[in-house]
Amino acid sequence: SEKITMGPLVAAIDQGTSSTRFLVFNSKTAELLSHHQVGIKQSFPKEGWVEEDPKEILQSVYECMERTCEKLGQLNIDISNIKAVGVTNQRETTLVWDKETGEPLYNAIVWLDLRTQSTVERLINSTPGKNKNHLKHKTGLPISTYFSAVKLRWLMDNVEEVAEAILTNRAMFGTVDSWLIWCLTGGKSGGVHVTDVTNASRTMLFNIHTLDWDPELCKYFDVPMEILPQVKSSSEIYGSMNSGSLAGVPISGCLGDQSAALVGQMCFQDGQAKNTYGTGCFLLRNTGIKPVMSDHGLLTTLAYKLGKDAPAYYALEGSVAIAGAVVRWLKDNLGIIQSSAEIEKLAGDVGSSYGCYFVPAFSGLYAPYWEPSARGIICGLTQFTNRSHLAFAALEAVCFQTREILEAMNQDYGVPLSQLQVDGGMTSNRLLMQLQADVLCIPVVKPAMSETTALGAAMAAGAAEGVGVWSLTPGNLTTIPTDKYQPMINLEESEFRFARWKKAVQKAMNWET
Ligand code: ADP
Repeated sequence: SEKITMGPLVAAIDQGTSSTRFLVFNSKTAELLSHHQVGIKQSFPKEGWVEEDPKEILQSVYECMERTCEKLGQLNIDISNIKAVGVTNQRETTLVWDKETGEPLYNAIVWLDLRTQSTVERLINSTPGKNKNHLKHKTGLPISTYFSAVKLRWLMDNVEEVAEAILTNRAMFGTVDSWLIWCLTGGKSGGVHVTDVTNASRTMLFNIHTLDWDPELCKYFDVPMEILPQVKSSSEIYGSMNSGSLAGVPISGCLGDQSAALVGQMCFQDGQAKNTYGTGCFLLRNTGIKPVMSDHGLLTTLAYKLGKDAPAYYALEGSVAIAGAVVRWLKDNLGIIQSSAEIEKLAGDVGSSYGCYFVPAFSGLYAPYWEPSARGIICGLTQFTNRSHLAFAALEAVCFQTREILEAMNQDYGVPLSQLQVDGGMTSNRLLMQLQADVLCIPVVKPAMSETTALGAAMAAGAAEGVGVWSLTPGNLTTIPTDKYQPMINLEESEFRFARWKKAVQKAMNWET
């Protein structure tokens, strides 16, 4: 049958914590033409440990890619119209592999993993004044279990194969973007070992001012610089797909997932912000070409650098470790829902937690507290409390955590945010979005096309020099409709609940003492 003629298409690999997606967009309209999604298994070998299999991650990418190409075929769309592929990924997750065999030397240590807690405590205690912000002037980050350097240090100290490969000059370190791009461009036979500034800025080995690996930081963590990928901009041709249906197509965009969402939401102006609700929750505010250092527990991070010679843009970021993951926990560990989506009905049945508060500090608390020893608590229970109240309290926890971050951000940035742009898997939950507007007392705005993370990576890939099928102007997308949630409860009620939440957080922080 006849193929439909289309303008150039651009694809994105979106490798998230809980799933992988491959998506194809029309570069003229940003319309999503086809996609495929595959779940990723997580393993928890010990309490606090979270791992994923690097080969399963890679296989999921190939599977999504091939299935999407098949679906395009069924739509009579010629896949030779795909002019570029962008990569966006879960950040900080740490891998080491052998460049000669192409084999991973250990599982990927996922960003949420807490195994480095004692190392982090030791590092902080050995700084002058026991200061977790000792490296912040260069990295924008506190010393925490979250970032890659401590995970890499753990691999070097505890996995013989890793230590051995480093000694024999066969080791390559990377975050998920580096692993995927290396494999997709040929792996052990000629793969390129690269990352982009946004992913590099989450390792704690990267100097966010010079935009390069920092010898002093590498020395601090005792990481040999030879194993690090080359740092590139977020939008340039890194290499080409080496095999599969898209062999020969350039890979020309790379952004950590939160940066990609910022781009996909068109937050190109100083002061614009978005919040993404996935496994965790990440609020990023564009601060323009100047890094703004936080006094309120936020991170300073690279937002994007869209081209070799383009300026680097920075963001203030508030990261919450557990958002969608609390819903997954209610499903997998308590079994009170059969699917994540069911929580909306369950919580909606009661419409209030009736004084129950749930602080899901499963992996310690991230922003604005950075307290790795915090643990989850559920409090305010009565005889009356049932699973619906628990479900409601879990959703409310996501909203309260966002409010804490937004307040920190308003103080650091100086100008309060007047509305919140949102995206991510959880935003299909309408009850959650309404609650969020109520808890923040500002409107919450959700684009109808919710795959903004993938869109951002596709835009970066399509706009790269030598590809040039996408111009990154908000004009492209003004036709995309949005859902808007207006705050509906009064300020007094909202303040009362938020104050109670903060009390619960203090208990989660000090539950052992
Ligand atoms: P990630 O990119 O981190 O893999 P996603 O953006 O795909 O995450 O979102 C998946 C997360 O959102 C899961 O943790 C899941 O439990 C949660 N989630 C998905 N749908 C809903 C829903 N309707 N209500 C509440 N949570 C949801």
